Amino acid sequence: MIDDAERIVAIVHMSPDGDAIGSATAFRSVMARMGKEVRIVIPDMMLSSLRSLPGAKEATDATRYPDFARQLIADADLIMCLDFNELSRIGRLGDAVAESKARKALIDHHLHPADFADVTISRPEMSSTCYLLFKVLCAMEMFDFIDKAAAESILTGMMTDTGNFSYNASDPEIYIVVSELLKKGADKEKIYRRQFETHSLNSMKLNSYAIYNKMEVWEDMGAALITLSREELNRFHYTKGDTEGLVNRPLAIPGVVYSAFLREEDGYVKVSMRSLGSFPVNELCHEHFGGGGHLNASGGEFQGSLEEAAELFRSLLKTNKELYLSNK
Ligand code: 5GP
Ligand code: MN
Repeated sequence: MIDDAERIVAIVHMSPDGDAIGSATAFRSVMARMGKEVRIVIPDMMLSSLRSLPGAKEATDATRYPDFARQLIADADLIMCLDFNELSRIGRLGDAVAESKARKALIDHHLHPADFADVTISRPEMSSTCYLLFKVLCAMEMFDFIDKAAAESILTGMMTDTGNFSYNASDPEIYIVVSELLKKGADKEKIYRRQFETHSLNSMKLNSYAIYNKMEVWEDMGAALITLSREELNRFHYTKGDTEGLVNRPLAIPGVVYSAFLREEDGYVKVSMRSLGSFPVNELCHEHFGGGGHLNASGGEFQGSLEEAAELFRSLLKTNKELYLSNK
């Protein structure tokens, strides 16, 4: 399919993270080495921390350039779908991809891939799409086309989807891949600083405020909750990405097994949950908060007010206690 293609488009999921952008820019770098140009299309804005990835700035943001994004998709002869499992995850671009006559390939690690692509490479047991992409490239004998730029993109996704190898990172083979990426010149320390230790002053203050003033903890129930209203977000000049990682913080408290973060958006509440061990936050998000995700990392959207969402979470504590105790 790559050999036949002349107009390749790579697409990733909404609110693209390091694994989404990293897999797209890595693919773009590798294709460039083969003399093929790849246009990256993103459904909405990427975090500023990802703009430094090689080729990321050239991506077409469909919220800013909707017509151009749709045109690229319509004109493509190959669409690479990276780091998402169904067309609903790319928002309004889903229709455009479904309608495009291009051949489609999916490389992804989320559960339950939908059947919309000509080729589907889905490996939910793998910790990141970037790791899977590396393996796919090797299987296609393209290892030599992975240059320093591609290596840094791949390593970024591997690091961001595992919290810098702190979870989903027990597969010994990922470290063999890391070793190969380092040999290709990837600067691991630079990537770590950029993705994990870079915060704006406003973001740092917002997160500190959230933990100091807005965190509720029920130690006997193993639960924690943080809510942030529009007014509070505005007070700290919130921009997208500023609360990345906040939902994980309460899990550091001994006894806390699951954590929810509710952020007020225009007309709905963005829900984010994390857990430890076998506590299934994906079930909680699926049943009550219009979403889903992974066992330990899930999200959703609640249609209602912030206080209603918070009350719903609090009202579920008792029911969840059984679940918590059986998973303790
Ligand atoms: P985050 O909390 O980082 O926004 O999302 C964590 C994970 O939860 C994502 O990787 C995704 O699998 C899942 N997720 C987040 N938001 C939604 C949503 O609105 N719907 C569904 N189905 N899954 C979501
Ligand atoms: Mn991913």
